[in-house]
Formats: sequence, C-alpha cells, structure tokens
Amino acid sequence: MLKDFFIHSSFVITFLFIGGSLFKNNPEIDTTLKKVKLGALAGILGSVLMAFSIQITPMIMMDLRHIAILLSAFYGGFVPAFVAATIINISRLVFFDGSLETFLVTVLIMFIIAAFAALVQKKVKGSDFIKWTIMGLISLITISFGFLYLMGFSDQVYQILVNYWVITTISGVLVYFLAGYIVQSNQMFMQLKTQSATDFLTGLNNVRQFDSSLNESLESAQKLNEKLSLLMIDIDHFKKVNDTYGHQAGDEVLRQLGGLLITCSRPSDIVSRNGGEEFSLLLKNCSYTQALEIAERLRGIVENHRFSLPNGKEIQITISLGASTYLETTQCLEEFIKQADDTLYKSKRTGRNKVSAL
Ligand code: GH3
Ligand code: MG
Ligand code: MG
Repeated sequence: MLKDFFIHSSFVITFLFIGGSLFKNNPEIDTTLKKVKLGALAGILGSVLMAFSIQITPMIMMDLRHIAILLSAFYGGFVPAFVAATIINISRLVFFDGSLETFLVTVLIMFIIAAFAALVQKKVKGSDFIKWTIMGLISLITISFGFLYLMGFSDQVYQILVNYWVITTISGVLVYFLAGYIVQSNQMFMQLKTQSATDFLTGLNNVRQFDSSLNESLESAQKLNEKLSLLMIDIDHFKKVNDTYGHQAGDEVLRQLGGLLITCSRPSDIVSRNGGEEFSLLLKNCSYTQALEIAERLRGIVENHRFSLPNGKEIQITISLGASTYLETTQCLEEFIKQADDTLYKSKRTGRNKVSAL
C-alpha cells in the first residue's frame, strides 16, 4: 500500500510542476479560460490517480483524487473545482465495475467536495493553511461517510478508514507546501521579470525593455509595411532642478513627467525612460509629420504643466525633442536612433524647449 501511495505522490508532484509551468508567465487564475484549463488539468490528474487506484475490495477503490479537486478549488474557486469533479466523474465511468449505487455515491461525493472546497476558499476568513485544512477535513469526512454507507461498519472498514485518514493527511500537507512553493516561485519569477523590464523610479519601461520593444516594433512595422516613429525627449537644464531643490525633488519631477507622458500617449505607444532625464516614445503606425505634431503637442503640455515638489512648491520645466521615422526618414536601425538623437541635440543647440526636424 505504501508503494502505491508513493506512486500517487509522484503523479501529484508531476502534475503540480506541469501546472506551475503552464501558469508560469501568467500566474493569476483570473479568466474563465484559465479556470477551465486549471480544472481540466486537475481533472486529468484525478483521473490518472483513479487509474492507479488501490483496489480495497472489488467495489471500493482508494486514491487521492479528491486532492486534485481541492487544488483546483484552492487556486481557482468554483469553476475549476466543478470542471475537475466532472472530468473525474466521467473517467469514473471508464474504470467503474461496481454497482450503480456505488457509482452514484462516488459521483455525489466528488461534487460535494468540489462545492464545499470552493465555498471554504471563498467564504472562510483565515490563513491559507487553515482553509486547506478545513477543505481536507470536509473531504475526509464526506469520503468516510461514503465508505460507511456503502460498506457498513466492520473492523475491516475501520482499518481502511484509519489508513486512509493517515495517508491522506500526510499527502495533503505535502501537496499544500509543494504547491505553495511552486506558486511562490512563479510569483517571484514574474516579479523579477517585471522589475528587470521596468524603471524603478517612474514605472516606465527601462532601457533594456526599450531595446527589445524597439526590435519587436521594427519587425512588426516591416511585416505590416507600417511606419514607426521614435521621439527622443530630454529635460532642459535638469541639473538646475536638482541643484536648486534637491535630488529628491528631481526624482519627483522625473516621476511626474513619466506619468504625464503615459497620460498623453496612446495605449499602443511605448514610453520608456532611457536613462537619467532622457525619455523616449515609440509611436506605432505613425508618419514623420504626425510624429513632429505629437512631439510639439507634448512639448506644449510639459511647458504648461506645474510639477509639485515634496516641499509643496510648484515648478515648471521644459523639454527638447527629436524625431525619426522608420520606413520614411530611414530604412536602417542605427540611423533610426541616430536621427532622433541628432535632432534632439539640434533642439538643444538651437535654444531648447523645441522640436527639431531633420
Ligand atoms: P540639458 O538641457 O543640456 O539637457 O541640461 P541638463 O542639466 O538637463 O543635462 P545634464 O546632462 O548636464 O544633467 C543631467 C542631470 O540629470 C544631472 C543629473 O544629476 C540628473 N539626473 C540624472 N538621473 C537622475 C535621477 O535619477 N534623479 C535625479 N534627481 N536627477 C537625475
Ligand atoms: Mg537634460
Ligand atoms: Mg540628458
């Protein structure tokens, strides 16, 4: 029997890792499709566990299939719990060789477990471990009543139930910690992924993300034969802001300018902080004339905006801009960036607070 449960645990661990990999880049189970996917995976796990069940009597099989339902309820709620229970019940038909009554009782047990587990996940206030423990207890009690109903009480049934409670409790605790470890690793992976692409001060894309977005956008522009424009933006005399109001005030201005650029751009535009007080905007499907118009509009908005400092004071700043357009002003990547940089410095050289064209 121990050997069988060792095999069961191996299946559970394998499925936990498959689930972890499936949801690695998107760990929140927040859409119906993802809920159904989670339920389907748990349903397959439950069915596999059932296929390797330990035959206690010709009519009674013992396995950990309910843990698959608990997992789906715990991480996704009602929908995945019911999808899992349904798949397990359909599979039960395949492995079924007992009476109709036994079949109906097992089907009912799985749906009761799914309903209670999802209810506990939603309604019970308390730590995750408390919720998991309550879910486990409800399942064990439900399954035990099922056993007793089908087999009546005898020394043999008592022995089966004791073994079942011990083994299921140990497996339940192990699964809880292992699943928690996988979920936590995925969350940390996502956090690091986001941090590596984000500028910590403004929340905009950092220069690394700018580079990969630029390559992606160039590829898609080429494929769709669409123009792609780049605006390079640099704050004028920003050193003075730091020198006059302090570095913290400077940081606050950078943060607010980042917010302003996001507010003033389209959702498809890619706004980045390329370093220091230099920002950029990648404008998809945008001609050179349009890019110059957008640049001029941004210049005006920033010029008229009042930036609030931590000491309550308000200041105004100006920006200088340069632009280039892929498939219009140039066909080459190096030139694309250089033209935007060159025209930005032309704006600096010729008086600042302006947009310069080639
Ligand atoms: P210009 O008009 O020629 O661009 O003048 P500038 O003073 O803006 O440019 P300069 O390159 O001389 O100085 C840039 C300043 O930006 C100096 C630096 O302290 C400041 N800076 C760069 N990164 C940060 C930052 O993260 N926070 C703060 N507060 N200041 C920063
Ligand atoms: Mg500057
Ligand atoms: Mg600069």
